[in-house]
Amino acid sequence: MHELSLMENVVGILRTSAAENKIKKISRIQLVVGKLTMAVPEALQFAFEVFKEEDLFKDAALEIKEEPVQGECKECRHTFAIKDFEFLCPSCSSPQVKLVGGRELYIEFYEGD
Ligand SMILES: [Zn+2]
Repeated sequence: MHELSLMENVVGILRTSAAENKIKKISRIQLVVGKLTMAVPEALQFAFEVFKEEDLFKDAALEIKEEPVQGECKECRHTFAIKDFEFLCPSCSSPQVKLVGGRELYIEFYEGD
């Protein structure tokens, strides 16, 4: 399962960071997930349940922010959200569009004490 290995990464980062900051319990995690990662938020939530057996994550609420696929026009530098994989600049109709967002998966912030 794709999402389980993604969550394993996230949880690993949180464990290290929490240890460094002497955090015993995490209460809130905000995760940013680009649409191009193909990770399903529900499946990420489900995968996270596996780690809730650990004290560190027992009371943690996982919030997932989905980041749209973003394109940047090479002609006019306009950036926009790409829908349905339509790679056309809405401003000048150029097909010269490069992907600038949607592949990310990172922890925006977490809270705990
Ligand atoms: Zn353009």
